Amino acid sequence: MKVWRSRVGGSDTATAPRRGSTFIGVDVGGTKILGLVTDGLGPTAEYRELQPTPKDPDALAPAIAEVVAALLAKSDRVVGIGVGVPGLVDHAGVLHYGPNVQGVLGLDIAGELNSRFGLPAVAENDGYLAALTEHRLGAARGHDHAIIVTQGTGIGGGLIVGGQVLRGANGFAGEPGHMLVNRFGHGCACGNTGCWESVASGAGLANIARELVEEGRGEAILEAAGGDPALIRGEHVSAAHANNDADAAEVLKRFSWWVAQGIGSLIALLDPSIVVLGGGLSAISEGFIDGLSAQVTDTVVGGRYRPVVPVVAADFGPEAGAVGAALRARDFVING
Ligand SMILES: [Zn+2]
Repeated sequence: MKVWRSRVGGSDTATAPRRGSTFIGVDVGGTKILGLVTDGLGPTAEYRELQPTPKDPDALAPAIAEVVAALLAKSDRVVGIGVGVPGLVDHAGVLHYGPNVQGVLGLDIAGELNSRFGLPAVAENDGYLAALTEHRLGAARGHDHAIIVTQGTGIGGGLIVGGQVLRGANGFAGEPGHMLVNRFGHGCACGNTGCWESVASGAGLANIARELVEEGRGEAILEAAGGDPALIRGEHVSAAHANNDADAAEVLKRFSWWVAQGIGSLIALLDPSIVVLGGGLSAISEGFIDGLSAQVTDTVVGGRYRPVVPVVAADFGPEAGAVGAALRARDFVING
């Protein structure tokens, strides 16, 4: 039997950590690594540490360890470490692949942290941890069936099924961003064509804006991007929209249609009682979420004959993953 090294150091028996104990939560994003220290029960962080995510895949584990070391130097009550990484993380905490951390394959980050710092350490998918945070402390609290979608550069997510975050057979469940929605669509960071992420994330918003530019429209958006369609990003659409640009409004209309289609499919599949949108894109325009809820009801199968599923903004912002990592670290210290 293969013995995994990553989930080492957890307690064999269920014992509550000593009062006053703290936990480090680290969230590895595509551009930055955020670490913080909490009591593993709530959202309030005592200390924070931020570093850019290195481009060199071999430098990722040392950079995470540096963030942890800096936090340990600030707090002497840390009894566990949790890390969220963007990609396929198995039940043992090994990162197999992540489109936004290219070249990092088979990384046993929890094992490395455990052997370096001598503390229980656990690694999870970042979307899983954001979902854990929203379920325990945020907008999905009290919902046994919920979908959490995090729209950033890509799309992350987590599925609450029967009161638990769904893990799947290998630990890889909850990647709605890579559902195929358009065979003839845009390229995705994962290498496929037409993933939901390619039309419903920040990158997707830019893709849709480029479509409009190809149609000879979107002058203000193109101008905001310095005249080069390849440089268009989501914020250029927001900037044009803030100036009441009609083409930016058209981009947002097409974008929200794609977002609604994906959410409608997820509702058809999982029958949740709430959908939580995180990651900041839901704040892209006033009324975006309200308009989306109506579109979702129109698109979901039997929409008029089933209860309306509220689509709401996440309670947690950019710290959702790191807070979730600390929650998970506490669970791990108690239950292994
Ligand atoms: Zn994809």
